Amino acid sequence: MTDTPLAFQPLPIPTVPILDQLTRFPVGRIFCIGRNYAEHAKEMGSPAEPIFFMKPAGAVTLEPALPFPPATSDLHHEVELVLALGADARIMASGVGVDLTRRDLQARMKAKSAPWEIGKAFNQSAPIGTLRSGNAPNAGQIQLSVNGEQRQVGDLADMILSADEILDALSRYFTLQPGDLIYTGTPAGVGPLQPGDQVSASIAGLPSLDFSFSQDRDS
Ligand code: MN
Repeated sequence: MTDTPLAFQPLPIPTVPILDQLTRFPVGRIFCIGRNYAEHAKEMGSPAEPIFFMKPAGAVTLEPALPFPPATSDLHHEVELVLALGADARIMASGVGVDLTRRDLQARMKAKSAPWEIGKAFNQSAPIGTLRSGNAPNAGQIQLSVNGEQRQVGDLADMILSADEILDALSRYFTLQPGDLIYTGTPAGVGPLQPGDQVSASIAGLPSLDFSFSQDRDS
């Protein structure tokens, strides 16, 4: 059976560069944590109780210029610390990511107690910066600016579940694997993005993440 040729060429595995390393991180799955900062849970009117959801690996993007996502009139930015699990399924690197969210579609699904995929798991919904190898930072500023104006600011020390606690919690439900990325939740200040916006996200000690959206809204 394994000798049977593939019906088509599979898409390449997305990979992320690692600062000062010759190798790249191959992405397998993307776990995301919601409501992991009390102030953000409050601004969403949600309990400060972390929840989990996923995006497909192909949602990762390193592109500095993105098309504006379709089917939304309320695209939101969420800057997040990203954990990258290596060969032993332990944290081998970390970086800055943005959990792009079609808030209008997510809200519609929440109201129906339906899954969030159309709000969260769309193409190029997981911009990520260059990773830094080693332990993830557990304190330090996390911030995001749009067109040079700061919109989100917080401190990693305010995460409700720390990096290690997230791994423990996820491990109750999933066997964590090499290649897993974990977006660990966003601080307060989430808000809308428009076509043409320039986004700059940073976490103390990690390579920053910058991207922009095209001027056109395709729907
Ligand atoms: Mn998020």
